[in-house]
Amino acid sequence: METSYETIVIGGGVVGNGIAYHLSERYKEGVLVLDKKYPMSGTSGSTQAWVWVHNKTPSWYAEFNMYSAELYPYLSKKIGDVEYKRTGGLSPFFNESDREKAKQLAESYRKIGIKIKVLSRDEVLKKEPSINPEVAGATYSSIDGNVNPFRLIDMYMRAAKKNSVHYSTYNKVTAIQKYEGKYIVVSDMETYVCKNLILAGGTWTRELGGMLGINIPVNQLRGQILVSEPLKPFLNYTISGLRQANNGEVLMGYSMEKAGFNRATTLDVIQETANMAVHYVPSLRKAKVVRAFSGIRAMPEDGFPILGKIPGFENLFVAATHSGVTLSPLIGTLMTELLVDGETSIPIDRYSISRFN
Ligand SMILES: Cc1cc2nc3c(=O)[nH]c(=O)nc-3n(C[C@H](O)[C@H](O)[C@H](O)COP(=O)(O)OP(=O)(O)OC[C@H]3O[C@@H](n4cnc5c(N)ncnc54)[C@H](O)[C@@H]3O)c2cc1C
Repeated sequence: METSYETIVIGGGVVGNGIAYHLSERYKEGVLVLDKKYPMSGTSGSTQAWVWVHNKTPSWYAEFNMYSAELYPYLSKKIGDVEYKRTGGLSPFFNESDREKAKQLAESYRKIGIKIKVLSRDEVLKKEPSINPEVAGATYSSIDGNVNPFRLIDMYMRAAKKNSVHYSTYNKVTAIQKYEGKYIVVSDMETYVCKNLILAGGTWTRELGGMLGINIPVNQLRGQILVSEPLKPFLNYTISGLRQANNGEVLMGYSMEKAGFNRATTLDVIQETANMAVHYVPSLRKAKVVRAFSGIRAMPEDGFPILGKIPGFENLFVAATHSGVTLSPLIGTLMTELLVDGETSIPIDRYSISRFN
């Protein structure tokens, strides 16, 4: 016999958990989150976790990210300390010729309420004395920061469980069928029936769509990150390229490689990343690297989130995106509105899967 839930979320990363938690605030019906491994095993456990806004393009996408960043302080109040720090973000440039581009970025973002300053060399070094003195300048925005993705998921889960959300881990979904207005979700452990089904499987979302004959165009893009030994706090800002975590470790890098689902780390990228980090912050030359890891981005074909209802399938929803750490609180909020109220407080039409038709 199948177990019934009102809503099933497939995927327990920052996106699936953000949805499950926000749903649980409004909606006391049965919600189940399924994950084939454990909730930090996917991309959400192998990320830089910047909450990053200021040089995302085009400006409407930066605006979307800004709304999510603005939700973080409130989210932390509700679910507990997720080590969210609004450090401010610096994107250094090393050629004076890049200043004009930076000024154009600042001007176009001013119109949507994202304040970006274009800093001189001296201003950069005053803010972040460890940066390479050869820097020409930087764009700076106070809205950027970072979060601890492990705490974020842990706190989401604790809060969701308090609100009666169920979890089943190490339980892979192997088939999905539509039957008499409901979804039958077949997993390794059990078969479930639900009214609402949310596909939040990160980089595996294409596979989940395929179970219902739907093309969800999410690709894989590997990123490798180096981790230093814990160093005494010395970086004040989140720098596009590296950040210092609360425990003193510096996380360096963001490579972008087409390697399918292969999560290996490779010597060439490790070397490039170390060179980049030392170029930005020369004192890192003396730091010991203790670990390298890689994560596989969930990268929609055009780079922008795929969010909302799936046309032609009643009560079927998708949430697949890069920048899922930044966007998690907003996606959770908007997907909840869509499910509970049938509409969202800000339009998400441009993120509909129908744009790929
Ligand atoms: C190197 C790197 C750096 C990044 N830096 C940033 C950053 O600074 N800021 C930012 O905002 N974002 C960043 N990202 C992106 C961000 O980490 C991701 O967008 C986010 O983690 C995606 O979350 P998710 O919940 O969609 O996916 P995941 O965390 O991968 O969760 C999906 C879950 O679905 C489960 N699942 C899949 N298929 C099934 C199935 N058949 N049955 C059951 N469960 C299933 C998986 O086990 C997994 O746990 C970075 C990514 C990488 C790789």
